[in-house]
Amino acid sequence: MRCVWLAMAERPPSIDRLARELAITIDLPHGVLVEVARSAVADAPTRAGDVAHERAHDLEASLLRRVVNGTGVLLHTNLGRAPLSAAGDRPLNLEYDLSSGERGSRHEPISALLAGLVGSESALAVNNNAAAVLLVVAALAEGRGVAVSRGECVEIGGGFRIPEVMERAGARLVDVGTTNRTHRDDYARAVSDEDIALIMRIHLSNFTVSGFTADVDVADLAALGVPVVCDVGSGLLDSSASFLGGRLQPVPAWIADEPAVRDALSDGAGLVTFSGDKLLGGPQCGIIAGRADLVAACARHPLMRALRPGSHTLMSLQSVLLAHLRRDAADTVPFWAMVCTPIDDLERRARAVAEQCGVDVARSDAAIGAGSAPGTTIDSWAVVLDGDHSSALRRHATPVITRVRDAQTLIDLRSVHPDDDAVVVDAVRATQ
Ligand SMILES: *Cc1c(COP(=O)(O)O)cnc(C)c1O
Repeated sequence: MRCVWLAMAERPPSIDRLARELAITIDLPHGVLVEVARSAVADAPTRAGDVAHERAHDLEASLLRRVVNGTGVLLHTNLGRAPLSAAGDRPLNLEYDLSSGERGSRHEPISALLAGLVGSESALAVNNNAAAVLLVVAALAEGRGVAVSRGECVEIGGGFRIPEVMERAGARLVDVGTTNRTHRDDYARAVSDEDIALIMRIHLSNFTVSGFTADVDVADLAALGVPVVCDVGSGLLDSSASFLGGRLQPVPAWIADEPAVRDALSDGAGLVTFSGDKLLGGPQCGIIAGRADLVAACARHPLMRALRPGSHTLMSLQSVLLAHLRRDAADTVPFWAMVCTPIDDLERRARAVAEQCGVDVARSDAAIGAGSAPGTTIDSWAVVLDGDHSSALRRHATPVITRVRDAQTLIDLRSVHPDDDAVVVDAVRATQ
């Protein structure tokens, strides 16, 4: 208290005045604006007013807020991947058993839903897929070897490198085979020559290798007698997309060809790990599913306490799992609703928006994003503005994030929630 009082007593009146002036246009707590004003006066005494306004605006713009994703990239990593409404502001029975009135488990209910959905004995949710891989390796291979094909020793993005994760988890990476071709015998030799705790398969999510290549089926690896862990990353539940309840028929190639969680498990993988916020369409989290004894070893590991998800994440995950189990994900999971929106709806919406703003429309190609299904595009429609208006649209009260191509600004409506078309209209009108 004393320090605060002293600071206030020493504050020149101009700083207070400046902070109050900032408050007219900038919605930040008074104390924060005082700090901004103070730093501006200290750094640029002759232009303190301008500098303070600039800094306060930058600070306000840097805060988390709702945006409109007009990029056409459905799982935009910089926009939080799968969009999902946040959980409410009331308490949840997170670790409370309502039937006994005693302490419950935050993991068990979610595990049961997950296991039912992917067809595994057991399952566990953690903070993200990187955490899932870290925990699996730490719990099952600490001080031992993990066999990984040389062609799968990859960097997924954002600094997630398989060799580094192995090392941090306390395991030794034993790379087998070559960059383009790895055979069953390469794994078999490693298993017989070294102390191998796990065989790890990593899905090459965000790039493709083609030409003279070879890899080994999970079923063949499972026969080597060491648990096989498949990091499928994108988390497609099953390649027939049964969770869409018959929508999107025939199933497009990017779904049919994506390695599915169910397939890896039925081929004999001991564990599968994947992200919750990619093709599952859920919140940021990571899922570990598979054999009960292996999942239990992960759940018991001391790192689990540091990697467990919070109540809001589990609540969102639960709602998405229930939607998949009800097979109505096409209507109720925002990512799958975007994928399943008929092209005619998008054309109608694009024309309606364009008409209200006096701009054009064009066909567009949306993308899955988040490194999933690289190279895949989905037909879409966009509102088109001549010239580069991306910066002005980004500065709209509700920012609209766009794509600029050939000196035109595109707002792809497949990644825009239909309720946000009115926001797009306002934002575009403001640029004309
Ligand atoms: C995306 C991905 C990861 C990282 O998942 P996060 O949920 O972002 O931590 C790891 N492995 C694979 C194969 C991926 O595709």
